Amino acid sequence: MKRDPEAFLKDDMTELRKNNLEWIIRYLEGGSKPHCIVNGKEVLMLNTNNYLGLATHPKIIQASIDATKKYGAGAGAVPVIAGSFDLTREFQEKFAKYKEVEASLLCQTGFAVNSGLIPMLVGKPDIVVSDELNHGSIIDGVRLSGAKRVIYKHRDISDLEKQLKEAEKGGARRICIITDGVFSMDGDMAPLDKIVNVAEDFGAMIFVDDCHGEGVLGDGKGIVAHFNLQGKVHVEGGSMSKGFGVFGGTVAGSKDLIEFCTNKSRTYLLSTAHPPGVVAANIASIEVVENEPQHVKAVWEHTNYFKKEVQSMGYDTGRSETPIIPLIIGDPGKAQELARILFEEENIYGTPIVFPMVARELSRIRVQMNALLTKEDLNMALGSIEKVGKKLDII
Ligand SMILES: *Cc1c(COP(=O)(O)O)cnc(C)c1O
Repeated sequence: MKRDPEAFLKDDMTELRKNNLEWIIRYLEGGSKPHCIVNGKEVLMLNTNNYLGLATHPKIIQASIDATKKYGAGAGAVPVIAGSFDLTREFQEKFAKYKEVEASLLCQTGFAVNSGLIPMLVGKPDIVVSDELNHGSIIDGVRLSGAKRVIYKHRDISDLEKQLKEAEKGGARRICIITDGVFSMDGDMAPLDKIVNVAEDFGAMIFVDDCHGEGVLGDGKGIVAHFNLQGKVHVEGGSMSKGFGVFGGTVAGSKDLIEFCTNKSRTYLLSTAHPPGVVAANIASIEVVENEPQHVKAVWEHTNYFKKEVQSMGYDTGRSETPIIPLIIGDPGKAQELARILFEEENIYGTPIVFPMVARELSRIRVQMNALLTKEDLNMALGSIEKVGKKLDII
């Protein structure tokens, strides 16, 4: 029989649909704001990483327009050939200063930082010690590296220490500890202060991926500032696409690190640089976070209020310590039903998170706070979440 080279496409999708794992894309008809039009109807958006609401900030939009007019729509080349602008240098200097490090690099995305840089920092003779709940892009980066991967229990320092001792016995050339700063499914934080202490004893490199911490923790500076660990963490990967509301990946650290990354990270070397309008918007975004502290303050006020209210209704918010607030339901069908009713009947947009993103019995809706939400928005959402939660026997 002749082989059908495309048959697997349909077969795999049928399998995904059968398991309720298909992503159905909903389209925003306007800016990413708490009140936004999705598939033709106005909903309250509680599921964006745009924590500070900066994606639609007038100064940032203006910076993007001005730079686009001056420099054009596209970069035209990879950063190392002809795709870097004076704007890029300005961003990198400003960002390094902001993060209190020697130097920084604007990379294509947070994902590209992990998949391009990790395989250069470690290789076959090395060991990566990785938190069990690390982001998929870290997992991919480590796989590409060919280094031996050792998993430690989520945020468990004594297990980390045990794994480091084993790694040392094995005679690895380098040992690198990698962790998310803020874990995106639970909203909890890596115990970075303790990790730094343990790492010092073993001469291990520390790589923290601060994508969900930047703009949120440490007055916006991220998890390293939150724990006052400036100068003690070797590699900080990050994203301008979340709290900062624009787009791009970042690496922050020593001059040596940034020179190394500039010359070795394959995603940095082989993928086109950002359009100049994006670079200018990223610069403006740092300025806004520095000059307008009200945005970081607001996202935390909303977080504290919302979390306290859902907890008092009886929802389990797990280990959340940040504006990522999971409402842990357990049963995947019920989590999906809660999200569906909230969207269709209550006009509230939260994300159902089920296997394989989390364990089946920890299915949830993930809610994320935003600085632009008002008290009325929050109370409206809380009323609906209580009503539907009771209806479905969740609380
Ligand atoms: C979002 C995220 C990324 C990817 O960042 P992008 O800039 O969106 O590519 C990487 N790591 C973690 C932990 C993230 O949450």
